[in-house]
Amino acid sequence: CGIVGYIGNNDTKEVLLNGLEKLEYRGYDSAGIATLNDDGVDVFKVKGRIAALREKVDMDNNFATMGIGHTRWATHGAPSEENAHPHQSVSERFTIVHNGVIENYQDIRKEYLEGVNLVSDTDTEIIVQLIETLYDQVGDVAEAFRRSIDLLKGSYAVALIDAQDQETIYVAKNKSPLLVGLGDGFNVVASDSMATLQVTDRYMELEDKEIIIVSRENVELQKLDGTKVEREPFTVEIDA
Ligand code: GLU
Repeated sequence: CGIVGYIGNNDTKEVLLNGLEKLEYRGYDSAGIATLNDDGVDVFKVKGRIAALREKVDMDNNFATMGIGHTRWATHGAPSEENAHPHQSVSERFTIVHNGVIENYQDIRKEYLEGVNLVSDTDTEIIVQLIETLYDQVGDVAEAFRRSIDLLKGSYAVALIDAQDQETIYVAKNKSPLLVGLGDGFNVVASDSMATLQVTDRYMELEDKEIIIVSRENVELQKLDGTKVEREPFTVEIDA
């Protein structure tokens, strides 16, 4: 299972699909990507191979300059197209990918999501519905994201996009691997630098319970209370 994300000016679909292919070694049962452009979010998902996902994505010729992708190793809910990531909130404003297991997803559902119609059997969908519910209360996406992440117990690497904002990917992690790769005029997100070494060798590490707000030109590392964190990037040495 793995995550990849991209924001820049190149062909997002290609970066995401190449990245997911590089993550195939981690094992998975389904895969998907979501891309964003002026027309909104497009979600493509398949049960099975990345090659099948690529075929589905290729049938659509929309161009996008940001998006997120996922290979799933099912823990909650059978391997199926409905349960494959990305998952969306009810209004489809928010779209998320997640690796890991949310241990308190039933509690969150009872406490915050009464009356919300869930469309998958995953623990992951709870996160994106929670973000939308808290966003409706606080009116700020970064704040809703931080508050939601703070409520989660368990392991997660997540990347979130907002259909109304083509400039930002929200990223968080706890006990699951996740890196942000730094480029010139673009940035990437990956479970393993192997996924994105083709585009950059400079990476920033997140510690558990930190978030990164990733834009085309910038990354901003924060704690869950919103305070900024400074960290030097490192260079991945490869002899390919
Ligand atoms: N727990 C999530 C699910 O079952 C994510 C699994 C994964 O890490 O791929 O969908």
